[in-house]
Amino acid sequence: MCGFIGIAGLPGRDIAPELYEGLIALQHRGQDAAGILSFDGAFHLRKGEGMVRDIFSAADMARLKGNLAVGHVRYPTVGGGGSQDAQPFYINYPFGVGMAHNGNLTNFVDLKEAQFPKENICLESSCDVEAILYAFAMGLQRTLRKDPLEHRIRTAVENVFERVKGAYSVGGVLAEGVLFGFRDPSGIKPCIVGRRVTEEGEEWAVASESVAFDVLGFEKVRDLENGEAFFVVPGQEPRFVRVAEGPHTPCIFELVYFARPDSFLDGISVYKARQRFGEALARQWRDEGAPTPDVVIPIPDSARDAALSMALELGVPYREGFIKNRYVGRTFIMPNQAARQDSIRRKLNPIPIEFEGRRVLLVDDSIVRGNTSRKIVETARRAGAKEIYFASTSPPLISPCPYGIDMATREDFVARGRTVEEVRELIGADYLTYLELDRMVEAAQAPNGEVEGFCTGCFTGRYPTEDAAASLDVIAAERAAMRV
Ligand code: AMP
Repeated sequence: MCGFIGIAGLPGRDIAPELYEGLIALQHRGQDAAGILSFDGAFHLRKGEGMVRDIFSAADMARLKGNLAVGHVRYPTVGGGGSQDAQPFYINYPFGVGMAHNGNLTNFVDLKEAQFPKENICLESSCDVEAILYAFAMGLQRTLRKDPLEHRIRTAVENVFERVKGAYSVGGVLAEGVLFGFRDPSGIKPCIVGRRVTEEGEEWAVASESVAFDVLGFEKVRDLENGEAFFVVPGQEPRFVRVAEGPHTPCIFELVYFARPDSFLDGISVYKARQRFGEALARQWRDEGAPTPDVVIPIPDSARDAALSMALELGVPYREGFIKNRYVGRTFIMPNQAARQDSIRRKLNPIPIEFEGRRVLLVDDSIVRGNTSRKIVETARRAGAKEIYFASTSPPLISPCPYGIDMATREDFVARGRTVEEVRELIGADYLTYLELDRMVEAAQAPNGEVEGFCTGCFTGRYPTEDAAASLDVIAAERAAMRV
């Protein structure tokens, strides 16, 4: 999972400093690497490994000239590695095109090792966006420079859709002075378009999450639909082009865990969706005849909104029982199991008075390997809890994500091949429940029902794109190689 933002500022402006602010707002989507590509008649690029604040110096920002720019934050997915894989990427020939994306291609290896070499294209990195970039440029090459821009963009995106499989949302810049964006035919990754009205005219942006617009004073216009492209020449009206039709299945895990609660994805408030997860979980809790707790305690941060609404619905007090050290970093970023377990201990510290002698209900957004929940149950017990109940606002995770959420290989999922009772025993809780899939999907849908279905592959093993399952073997092999 990654984040990107592209901005088309009014002619004559340098937009990179604002893009930088947008990237800071998207930092939760990736802390591994970042970059900005700007354009003022020539491309200017700065990218590197680390957090946004560590990569760009004042001198870099002064060099990143131009009113068109696209930026990226990278989340480490399997195989993704050094600075050569940081985004954005650009080429100058046969057309100047720059790009950043969020997603993961399921046929990247085939494109890089079998298909593209036949056309004398050698990708330099193991970063998926390079494949999208070349597929886009090959499509552009089928058009004439004098063709209408809409035709050229449509043909380029059509070629991407034809050749590139998986999940991807893209923001990019064309050297003829255009900002563009597009979303894969299933619309798995989020992609939203925004506008800022100034006295001199309108400026446009495309980004992974609406929260990037909030900090820059852009209003959200709308999400791109699945298979849709958008482009704008600064100072002119933008155009939206539907390139492919089909079922729209955005990733439900964005709502569960990944996105910031102050974002809207496909018209759904992430915050409200999490509240609805909590209410649904409370109703399920009652339907199951689960034991009544004395207190509800969230596992910070992503479970907070759900835990609060669950507590309200159950009529039980809500308390903050764990304090998070924000400077340890997300535990998944740690390279191996031992480091991960250590970091959970350093990351969450209990407030014992909230646990002593109480029956506590701990709420988390998900259980993946079970490390976090086991440690947390242990900690709650040491802090004096009398009984510990555990609720997950999403169903058991059992299947890896081929689309870029770095979770685990099949055998790492604690719920795979285990009953709920076996997982309960393993994490050491006195009661465990997971929000059922149907209840979660219903709760995820906004009351306005803009999204009919979601990708729920990590909970079901059924994916919306055809070659997803095969790509899981490639991911498993890469992970195995990394462990050696
Ligand atoms: P685990 O210890 O493997 O069971 O991890 C569960 C915890 O990791 C939960 O608290 C989630 O909030 C969090 N989590 C779930 N998915 C991810 C992910 N893809 N990347 C980072 N953290 C995650």
